[in-house]
Amino acid sequence: MAELMPLEEAIRIVIENVKPLDTERVFIHEALGRVLAEDILSDTDKPLFDNSAMDGYAVRFEDIQNIPAKLRIIGEYSAGTEESLKVESGTAIKIFTGAPIPEGADTVVPVEYTEVLDGYVIIKKEFKKGANVRKRGEDIKEGEVVIPKGKEIRPYEMGMLSSVNRAVVSVYRKPHVGILATGDEILDVCQESTKSSQIRTSNNYMLYGQVIQAGGIPHNLGIAPDNPEKLKEVLKNIYRYDLFITTGGVSMGEKDYIKYLVKELGIDVKFHKLRIKPAKPVLFGVYGDNKLFFGLPGNPVSTAVAFDLLVYPALRAMQGYKNIFKEKVKAILETDYKRRNADRREFTRSKVWFENGKYHCEPYPKQDSHMLTSLVNSNGYMVVYEGVKELKKGEEVDVIFL
Ligand code: AMP
Ligand code: MG
Repeated sequence: MAELMPLEEAIRIVIENVKPLDTERVFIHEALGRVLAEDILSDTDKPLFDNSAMDGYAVRFEDIQNIPAKLRIIGEYSAGTEESLKVESGTAIKIFTGAPIPEGADTVVPVEYTEVLDGYVIIKKEFKKGANVRKRGEDIKEGEVVIPKGKEIRPYEMGMLSSVNRAVVSVYRKPHVGILATGDEILDVCQESTKSSQIRTSNNYMLYGQVIQAGGIPHNLGIAPDNPEKLKEVLKNIYRYDLFITTGGVSMGEKDYIKYLVKELGIDVKFHKLRIKPAKPVLFGVYGDNKLFFGLPGNPVSTAVAFDLLVYPALRAMQGYKNIFKEKVKAILETDYKRRNADRREFTRSKVWFENGKYHCEPYPKQDSHMLTSLVNSNGYMVVYEGVKELKKGEEVDVIFL
């Protein structure tokens, strides 16, 4: 058997050929999950003015040296107040959380340590100078970078964006992905069956979901027959997309035209066939201006695995994510595992769960690449590395979450 390319090398080649997409401006509401393409700076100091961290009394520190201290209440400051009173020696202002610290005051005594008597407040506990005062600029200084370029926007970053008055931000564009299934025997969902040899597509819709999960915008181009002229007709449109996926037609069969057509279409093929199981005949090439072409094998499980291992990180990298791979963890294998041929790295669909501080995993019993049940009943791929024929119950294995 000719030397097959190891997965690491294939991933390296794919990522090497990714160019981050250009940027677009989105409203804050639409920014969740996107990657920032600019540094976000604070518009002001934060807090913008000294204010109270508690409901209580704003006082002069020097007035609360002898406890209990009795101070005359000269007014009230609530959050958003426009008052401009001055705390003179022997006086206090009733204050609420978020209200500006009045002139003359430097310390806030929380209400629970006070008592009110005939227009006076009795301070019953000592506090340090500056206690319960949030100082101007103590969190952020004006002009400071509050979110760096390249960061993925979570709800917390959305909060920060609005707090620095940014309604619109620059993020990396989402890739447009064309999806085309091929095969004379493939029927679309709801399409009437005319021959008993036909099967219904899984790949178009599975990939549609996988593309969305990876942050891309899927375009389902349906199903093309195994006919070079018709295939070419559809594949002429690959230039409209940032990334194009076909399924089927890359294996050893004479009617597997994709592998021949790619060259005619101006795709620079970087690899075809990897040392993995399933999805060995996966084809990858580059076309146009850093556009990526993936010819995935037609068996649904092969399509899914090839997407998760190669297309997913490519789509993530195009959008500027730092974390481009699916999450991988160590798990304890819960049954013995054997295979006949240890040539390739195998991605065994498995059930993974967390119990007693560890992940555990159990391969699904049916592992053929046409059996979608292996994916529907699994949430991870157990990785069986090249050269490994057997794994024992209790051994630690690598698992990639679906
Ligand atoms: P191929 O890669 O074209 O040799 O196809 C391999 C196997 O996958 C064949 O049994 C096909 O019928 C099946 N297959 C191809 N495309 C699809 C699809 N879109 N959905 C489900 N099965 C498919
Ligand atoms: Mg086919």
